[in-house]
Amino acid sequence: MEVISEVEESVKSFALPPPFILNHFPKRLLPFFRHLLKFRPIIDKKKCVACLACKEVCPTAAVTVKNKIVSINQRKCIMCMCCAEVCRFGAVELNKGILLKILSLAHRGS
Ligand code: SF4
Ligand code: SF4
Repeated sequence: MEVISEVEESVKSFALPPPFILNHFPKRLLPFFRHLLKFRPIIDKKKCVACLACKEVCPTAAVTVKNKIVSINQRKCIMCMCCAEVCRFGAVELNKGILLKILSLAHRGS
């Protein structure tokens, strides 16, 4: 009985998470804000050793190599992050959109 009352209490105090921030923006501006909120993988040229493991796993052939410099074609990238998973050198990093950066900083400060 005691257990049931504890469960009842926790159910009563259950709160839905706050609505996603994009729900507050005017619909016409959504595409613009979505772009600013995006994150995308980029390759740190200083860390990359051009082993091409990321190129092998990329499902959309978004990883390209030119003059031994590996880069990601953002138009082809579907942000699955397989490249980051297989990179043993930590060379695939997430580049956050400017709005996402600001929100992260604000969140850290709160
Ligand atoms: S797996 Fe990492 S080190 Fe290898 S080519 Fe890709 S980014 Fe460079
Ligand atoms: S995130 Fe996925 S689609 Fe984009 S480059 Fe990496 S493996 Fe390819």
